[in-house]
Amino acid sequence: IIEIKHLKKSFGDNEVLKDIDFAVKKGEVVSIIGSSGSGKSTLLRCINLLETPTSGEIYYKGENVLAKGYSLTKYRTHLGMVFQSFNLFNNLNVLENCTTGQTTVLKRDNAEAKKVALANLEKVGMASFQNAMPAQLSGGQKQRVALARALSMNPDVMLFDEPTSALDPEMVGEVLKAMKDLAHTGLTMVIVTHEMAFARDVSDRVIFMDKGVIAEEGTPEEIFGHPKEARTKEFLSRVL
Ligand code: ATP
Ligand code: MG
Repeated sequence: IIEIKHLKKSFGDNEVLKDIDFAVKKGEVVSIIGSSGSGKSTLLRCINLLETPTSGEIYYKGENVLAKGYSLTKYRTHLGMVFQSFNLFNNLNVLENCTTGQTTVLKRDNAEAKKVALANLEKVGMASFQNAMPAQLSGGQKQRVALARALSMNPDVMLFDEPTSALDPEMVGEVLKAMKDLAHTGLTMVIVTHEMAFARDVSDRVIFMDKGVIAEEGTPEEIFGHPKEARTKEFLSRVL
């Protein structure tokens, strides 16, 4: 569903992504692991074009999204993103957080938007908080609302950038559980995470990034059980 070829990204003289080839199939759950600064977030941000690649190609359903005339606005509505920081609208309640994008961007009517929002809040166990304000929620609850909000836009692909790394340890589990449930629904997911047990458990494929390249990729069993590359082994020995 997404295919990336020869992606490079530099910030000034700093080449952060060096010739990345990467693809995600429909329904696939791909985790991206690697050391701090290896370029994981930059890769995700290039996928949804929050960053403009320095060179390379990105295809969505076979179409070059960097081609002149391709609608980026439309492209972005197919991608949902959940960040480390929750990014909820603090002046809107939980339900409104989940309906506003639907009514403004997707032009759904209020009743339909509310129905979709409640169904997704239900999925993440937050329907009973629909009238709460973000300030009244714990970090884990906020992140589950952020997840429901992203899902309410019916994305084809969900991108996650360390969705649990800002959470207190006791809240990590509830967010991972919600993500695991989602993975089992057949949603296409790309997850940057440092939760190795989770990556091993839910992923179809794991990508290990090191210094701006994909150093190794394979099934969870291959990457965690039988890593081939010395730098993968070294990374895993530090984090496991
Ligand atoms: P972490 O695990 O810490 O989140 P990461 O793998 O996500 O790390 P990136 O955030 O992609 O790494 O950063 C890769 C490199 O790119 C780093 O050296 C970082 O300083 C640099 N970088 C990222 N964003 C920018 C930016 N907007 N301007 C300049 N340099 C940047
Ligand atoms: Mg990052």
